[in-house]
Amino acid sequence: MLGALAAPAPDPIIALMQRLAADPRDGRIDLGVGVYRDAAGRTPVMGAVAAAEARILAAQQTKGYLGLAGDPGFLAAMVDLLLGASSDRVAAVATPGGSGALRQVLALVAQANPDAQVWIGVPSWPNHAAIAEGLGLAVRPHAYLDAGGGVDTAAMLADLEGARAGDVVVLHASCHNPSGADLTGDDWAAVADLCARRGLVPLVDVAYQGFGAGLEEDVAGLRHLAGGLPEVLVAASGSKSFGLYRERVGLALALCAGPAEAGRVGAALAALNRRNFAFPPDHGARVVTTILRDPVLCADWRAELAGIRRRVQANRSALAQALRVATQGAGFDALERQRGMFSLLDLAPDRIEALRERHAIYLVPDGRINIAGLTPATIPTVATAIATVLR
Ligand code: PMP
Repeated sequence: MLGALAAPAPDPIIALMQRLAADPRDGRIDLGVGVYRDAAGRTPVMGAVAAAEARILAAQQTKGYLGLAGDPGFLAAMVDLLLGASSDRVAAVATPGGSGALRQVLALVAQANPDAQVWIGVPSWPNHAAIAEGLGLAVRPHAYLDAGGGVDTAAMLADLEGARAGDVVVLHASCHNPSGADLTGDDWAAVADLCARRGLVPLVDVAYQGFGAGLEEDVAGLRHLAGGLPEVLVAASGSKSFGLYRERVGLALALCAGPAEAGRVGAALAALNRRNFAFPPDHGARVVTTILRDPVLCADWRAELAGIRRRVQANRSALAQALRVATQGAGFDALERQRGMFSLLDLAPDRIEALRERHAIYLVPDGRINIAGLTPATIPTVATAIATVLR
């Protein structure tokens, strides 16, 4: 029976990781996989995380099951972090990572409205479409990027005029993956108006809170939607903001029209957890709750996150400047303006291959680079290599 199964198309990012691991050259530069790296190339355990883990280890008496929705303290702390206040319109469950959260909110959509179309910008994180399609939902593309590395809001809104009431629009809260091009405040307001007018439900993917303009700023768009629309879905990840990648921290949230709906939707989400994996992982969630509920740990975490944000931004500016010098060209302002760990370089596939083969510089085939993978020492090397392959 299993012999009939075709192998799935290899994930380009996972394939790249394997290729890099097999590359014997010294000085390989990994701008591929989307994890934060410090100036030494490490993905560190954040100080507040280590402190919280020590406390949990000292105090924890049991690892018995919790509820299907996860620890209520975690849900409340995450709702505060995301929405800025609690609400009786919120239904939420803990999930394995942001990917698990996307899966669960989209499973909720598939249950509530199997005919819903899921509108996803081009480009987007490939797993958005993969998860929606895996649940049998129809995926529809909408325009997103303009030629200058910003968002083509007019084209995006024009495409979304083709959506039907009950359709879902996937939006990146901040630090758009893969482009770094984020919606402005005016753009969020325009999207909110369109969703209200046409009865569309936004699904906001919050995977990089704190990596863009700031912890509050990065969810300002989400909060604008939450303030004005009857229904908003959220898939949040603790992977980047808390550096808890492998612990799988996530939250699936549905803002509902009222408390009665929220109660039913919460039960539906818990039942979906039950069916898919039963109890969500707790360790990482407990770390997050410990940090968010302790003023000292929370201040320490915020400060470290601000340092991460500053480092990524400094790398952006330095790379843009080094590229201007190396290519003797302009046109790198967008790179500097964009936010978060990713930007798309306008490089043809053979140039990307040349960077890998001749210069041991790895980036994803679509031209996405992880800005956090750069260091002051590698930025000139990378800029020169890019200028060379462009010649
Ligand atoms: N959404 C986006 C846009 C992402 O980039 C990621 C991580 N690459 C995720 C969601 C999910 O992250 P995780 O499942 O690791 O929490």
